[in-house]
Amino acid sequence: MLEKSEVETLKGKLFNKKENGWNFAEDKNDIFNYAKGYIEFMNKAKTEREIIKESENIAKSNGFREIHEYSNLKPGDKVYYINRNKSMYLAVIGKENIEQGLNIIGAHADSPRLDLKPNPLYEDSEFAYFKTHYYGGIKKYQWTAIPLSIHGVIVKKDGSKIEINIGENEEDPIFTITDLLPHLAQDQMEKKLKNGIDGEDLNLLIGSIPYQADVPEAVKLNILDILNKKYGITEIDFLSSEIEIVPAMKCRSLGFDESMIAGYGQDDKICVYTELTALVDMKEIPNKTAVCIIADKEEIGSMGNTGMESKVFDMFISELLNKLGVNKANLLEKVFCNSKMLSADVDAGLDPIYANVSEKNNASYLGRGIGINKYTGARGKSGASDANAEFVAEIRNIFENNNIKYQISELGRVDVGGGGTIAYILANKGIDVIDCGVPVLSMHSPYEVTSKFDLYEAYRGYKSFYIN
Ligand code: MN
Ligand code: MN
Repeated sequence: MLEKSEVETLKGKLFNKKENGWNFAEDKNDIFNYAKGYIEFMNKAKTEREIIKESENIAKSNGFREIHEYSNLKPGDKVYYINRNKSMYLAVIGKENIEQGLNIIGAHADSPRLDLKPNPLYEDSEFAYFKTHYYGGIKKYQWTAIPLSIHGVIVKKDGSKIEINIGENEEDPIFTITDLLPHLAQDQMEKKLKNGIDGEDLNLLIGSIPYQADVPEAVKLNILDILNKKYGITEIDFLSSEIEIVPAMKCRSLGFDESMIAGYGQDDKICVYTELTALVDMKEIPNKTAVCIIADKEEIGSMGNTGMESKVFDMFISELLNKLGVNKANLLEKVFCNSKMLSADVDAGLDPIYANVSEKNNASYLGRGIGINKYTGARGKSGASDANAEFVAEIRNIFENNNIKYQISELGRVDVGGGGTIAYILANKGIDVIDCGVPVLSMHSPYEVTSKFDLYEAYRGYKSFYIN
């Protein structure tokens, strides 16, 4: 029989330790300061267009320039390309021959929300409303009876663009979607949760004063009059608009110990912020060209010319090859086949209240560091992008050498559900890709929860991957 202490030593040597990261965080001030910057970023930008604008500011103030400003590129050059104000690619040219491949990190800036319909405005019983169509996977009941703000653009037929952002400043009004009082909700409460609120009933309440004239639709008229005076638009201009309804709540520190962050759209803006700051904070020129992707449309399948499925990203990399003066037939494909990528998207953290959807040995926990998913998918790994063991080992090596706390998990119990990210799209190009992001509670709700420890480990982890 071994002594108890010897057994403990043996256990320490053989077991994979799963530990609360806060117990090992020597740099709590660094973590909290970094989180402050993240919270500020989140309170400046809630939609993909706003994220791109804010990311461009961060890039520019760190010496990045638009790719068209360069006629040729050399190691150390910092470039970016913005695709239709909704997605963005950045690169720091590395010292090695680019043919050896890129180190890519990719996150997405779009989050679940409510979009206005093309003909949104109507009046009913002397209330004015906007009709909405939800975007991405939401639980509809979560979007009623909370403060909402309106963000987006209206493009007039002459191409002039009006930017809307109302409901975020203290002086601004907010908007809301009403719900039924419990006293009269007998029928509603008998419904299945997913049918409790009908998609067609997600109508935003926007006004109630009639225009001073005895005409039908006087409240609608009054709203249009206000919008016309404020933005110079008429009803037809909504046809060419993209207006998003998002929670008006601020991103805040959470808990007495302020260890966590609550905020809308952390899926996947938390990975946008960490990958972007990791890129711009790199002090030395990396060996491999470091590429940062901020994608759009991930929440609805990555389709369209701003989604990851489009060829615009390939075009950006081809431009790098052109401006490095090395391009030749099939080089792009070769570069991709030699490239490595972290698909930086959030992971479902284990929520003890709903622990039955997780399998505790293979779940991500808030506070245990960056969460790696070797594969995603659903039901027998269907549709999964499954990282090769050799590549998982490389990532482990990078993280362990740099003392990055990480955990490797699956999204939920087998057959309970599943999900995916942009990983498979890049993997299909021949890139070695693994999902690697921050665990979240209440994912896709109006107010998602993350840990500041994991936020900071993601930043450090992404940085170590770029520099590697
Ligand atoms: Mn996501
Ligand atoms: Mn999502």
